[in-house]
Amino acid sequence: MNLLGIAEKGSIQPIPEARGKEKPRPQPKEVEFITVVFCRTDSNVIQGVVKQDSAKQPAQRTKIVFIFGYKPEKNSTWQGPLPLHEEEWLCHVIQDTLPENPRKGVLKVRLIENLTTKQKIAEEKERHYFAPILQHINILETAREIEKFALQLLNDGLGLKHGFEIIKSFASLNIKYGWDVSGEKAKVMPRHQELVVKIWDNCEGCWQSYVSALAAWLEHLCSVGLREGSGFLHLGKRDFRCNNCHATTRTSKDESQKYVRGEKITIVCEHCGAKCAVQKDS
Ligand SMILES: [Zn+2]
Repeated sequence: MNLLGIAEKGSIQPIPEARGKEKPRPQPKEVEFITVVFCRTDSNVIQGVVKQDSAKQPAQRTKIVFIFGYKPEKNSTWQGPLPLHEEEWLCHVIQDTLPENPRKGVLKVRLIENLTTKQKIAEEKERHYFAPILQHINILETAREIEKFALQLLNDGLGLKHGFEIIKSFASLNIKYGWDVSGEKAKVMPRHQELVVKIWDNCEGCWQSYVSALAAWLEHLCSVGLREGSGFLHLGKRDFRCNNCHATTRTSKDESQKYVRGEKITIVCEHCGAKCAVQKDS
């Protein structure tokens, strides 16, 4: 073997002196990612519990989790982020001090991603998306259900704009209990009575706010559209026929004048919600 540690056979051998200089680092056998919920005290003691262990573990570990290299006295000089109290983080396991026992020893981890912040950002985005519904019912879960229900109604043939107008008119019905339904549904046109019952089945007893939220969502879809359309045929004056569903949409006076002048206008089909930009051929 020569001085560089290259063995005669050509294979590279570790150099004993060089190995001694480097601080030995604990090496995990495999890269493991876990989610951890941290506790942080006023004196900056930070420790966590495993919320979701790595799929590679046969059983969820119940060890205390520490941030690798962190101590409370390092708090002011620590490079990088530290979790706040009750935050959930995606972490990379650096060391399991007792890998053979899932309940003993500790886990030392490196922080990868703040999942609490990520969830908050996602929730804020969703709140923004569902804003028209949340003005009436401030529950995200219900907003998601209303979106699904609205799509189902549209799939079943309810026209977008017409549906919005009918459902908005339902807000005047005085339905508080199941036994009010038959009397109140009789106040609407016979072909809409089935719709009253369908909505009642979904509204969990909150008729007024549910109907308002549903109408608000349909109105919102009327302005933003539901899907990319494949064009409109100008039928004359303010009327355009949707290439997707062949229903006619009447644009506003302003929009139709723009179209006549050769400007590009965007039309949302008031029946199926297909949205498309149209421009007169010059
Ligand atoms: Zn259409």
